[in-house]
Amino acid sequence: MLKQNNHSNRRIVLASRPKGAPVPDNLRLETADLPHPDDRQVLLRTVYLSLDPYMRGRMSDAESYSAPVAIGEVMGAGTVSRVVESKHPDYKTGDWVLNYGGWQDYSLADGKALKKLDDDLLAHPSWALGVLGMPAFTAYMGLMDIGQPKTGETLVVAAATGAVGSVVGQVAKLKGCHTVGIAGGQDKCRYAEEVLGFDTCIDRRADDFAQRLAKACPDGIDIYYENVGGAVFDAVMPLLNTSARVPLCGLIAQYNMQALPEGPDRLSLLMGLLLRKRIRIQGFIIAQDYAHHYDEFIQVMAPWVKQGKIQMREDIVDGLENAQQAFIGLLQGKNFGKLVVRVGNDSL
Ligand code: NDP
Repeated sequence: MLKQNNHSNRRIVLASRPKGAPVPDNLRLETADLPHPDDRQVLLRTVYLSLDPYMRGRMSDAESYSAPVAIGEVMGAGTVSRVVESKHPDYKTGDWVLNYGGWQDYSLADGKALKKLDDDLLAHPSWALGVLGMPAFTAYMGLMDIGQPKTGETLVVAAATGAVGSVVGQVAKLKGCHTVGIAGGQDKCRYAEEVLGFDTCIDRRADDFAQRLAKACPDGIDIYYENVGGAVFDAVMPLLNTSARVPLCGLIAQYNMQALPEGPDRLSLLMGLLLRKRIRIQGFIIAQDYAHHYDEFIQVMAPWVKQGKIQMREDIVDGLENAQQAFIGLLQGKNFGKLVVRVGNDSL
């Protein structure tokens, strides 16, 4: 039973900055008065809340491309919501919108930060946070613009059953690549091969992970779509081919780190490799680098999803009160698919 009511607003705020991995006490569930819309504002009720790895960065005040959440402030998040009350001429009660409402039952928005859901999405509104939203957009642009896949090339991606990696693998397959996924555990690997269509998927937790990866890539790696860093990158590095491309999307294995890991001098190793093999690594931030390509992405992805060429799996957690634990689990690989919290009912 979802607990939203129309008298008060439950919200989750940042209580303290994590030291290393976040713990439940870093986030606090509190209740506030229901906000009221001013002229040209709408009051929105959150139905789906997206949980994404970048939120770990916002909990920290280390230098980043985006400002941190302040202590006591509501955690930010992409949300799919319904309009409850509108004082904006373009929106009416009941409309479904994509907004950045944060970890709370209700939020206010002006028209600028809102996007009405296309009719196609009304049957699956949560897809606006995944396969037809930011994560798939990230997958598509990083792969196509930086990875530049060609028929017969070998692509490797980790977090292969997640929101970004699952789309990377499937688009690369549609482009004719040999696709090798990396995922945490046998269930995820089986799903990656049987449903997502990866040629092979390797369990990153296996003792002989590096050997298995090398065996799965007999012709080396032409595109390594980087989602995780850490030990996975150590295993990938020696397999990179001359002229390989590495879209640097995320480094989730490092998000909770407080100091550099012990081990070899990776930077010197990497610099030598980049030089000898003329490898191109390029970081990107989807919202800042590619926002102007969004329509182009949707025009390609929406038909693929409709035709069943792109499969997706959602990991839906019920109840705002369970968001903290779900987010902590995301950083440990406990999610299986795009992680979404169902905060309220679909109906008005
Ligand atoms: P996922 O849905 O893939 O969930 C995260 C997954 O990361 C986990 O399920 C787990 O998968 C894997 N993981 C967690 N901890 C580790 C670890 N220590 N070592 C290796 N793998 C780990 O998340 P998303 O698809 O939303 O995000 C994937 C990456 O893309 C993240 O790094 C994220 O920050 C980045 N990103 C970057 C954007 C940009 O603009 N540059 C935009 C959006 C996302 P498993 O158990 O299968 O290994």
